[in-house]
Amino acid sequence: MTQPVLRPGIAEIAIYVPGRAKLAGRKKAIKLSSNEGALGPSPAAVKAYRRAVRGLDRYPDGGSTVLREAIGRRHRLDPARIVCGVGSDEILVNLARAYAGPGDEILYSRHGFSMYPIIAHSVGATPVTAPERELTADVDSLLGRVGPKTRMVYLANPNNPTGTYVPAEGLRRLRQGLREDIVLVIDSAYAEFVVRNDYADGAALADESANTVMTRTFSKIHGLAALRIGWAYGPPAIVDVLNRLRSPFGVSTPAQEAGAASMDDGAFLDMARDHNTVWLPWLRDRLAALGLDVVPSAANFVLVRFPSEPGRTASDANRFLNARGIIPRETTVYDLPDCLRITIGKGDEMLACAEAIEAFMEKRR
Ligand SMILES: *Cc1c(COP(=O)(O)O)cnc(C)c1O
Repeated sequence: MTQPVLRPGIAEIAIYVPGRAKLAGRKKAIKLSSNEGALGPSPAAVKAYRRAVRGLDRYPDGGSTVLREAIGRRHRLDPARIVCGVGSDEILVNLARAYAGPGDEILYSRHGFSMYPIIAHSVGATPVTAPERELTADVDSLLGRVGPKTRMVYLANPNNPTGTYVPAEGLRRLRQGLREDIVLVIDSAYAEFVVRNDYADGAALADESANTVMTRTFSKIHGLAALRIGWAYGPPAIVDVLNRLRSPFGVSTPAQEAGAASMDDGAFLDMARDHNTVWLPWLRDRLAALGLDVVPSAANFVLVRFPSEPGRTASDANRFLNARGIIPRETTVYDLPDCLRITIGKGDEMLACAEAIEAFMEKRR
């Protein structure tokens, strides 16, 4: 019997492993596995979502006009150069569909976001990784891996799962070092959490060049992961391409309404950022005090390296935390089997998490 023929790359896809959401036998758990905003959604967003119930019988505005205008207001960007998608995932995929295919290479850093190889394979392109320096994307190393077949570069900045970032200066140098026919995608999913003077989200580079796109999401600081909303800002030609490829009615009306309300709730977004600015160094310091190696993070999570000593490994720690109702993210799929990634949650969740890891490190000492 002959089988249906798969397109190149599809069989190579390793199915995406999401952070665990539940623990067997437990009703409630402290979920620190997917970098969702600690404070949940803005009350204004929830209200707008409920209000949208009235319009469930009508197709959404496929162009997400009201949402793009709200994004433009907050970020001082031209709404005509914004495209919304079903999560930034849809946009990241559509960029690859547009610019890469069989025989082409898609480049990213060694511990880059795990969707990048999945996306590369899904369009039949070859994923290529560049070594990092201290778990941080390295501009020279990325440029060193560029070849004649390179079509795209994905850079999560800050990166997931490491939390490290390339400063504005490095981003500019990366763009200048890439051929003009290579699309640079700056995935700034965690931009809102970053409080560093030398950081830039990539919007300025998208203005200055014809081949750079910035992608953003409502899944993290906005606390709207379930609604699946992402957006891109780019040069007119790339925006045009993304508008051709997006599904005609991708972002639902309740998602558009809630997203727009969230964008307009500056006080909520400030509060969510300030929460992170307090608890990120708090968790880092508590864990570092135990002798654990905590990777410097600018985002809303930390990557923690555990000892290799039996009983004290990352997978032992994961089991220990799970038994106490806490779910961190294992990072074996990122080729970081000795680490766990822990999202910054609410204050009481951080206390419980730090105390559990202290108990874990104390035992059998
Ligand atoms: C969470 C995350 C996203 C967001 O994806 P959505 O599809 O918008 O939920 C994008 N990039 C990175 C690096 C992320 O960690």
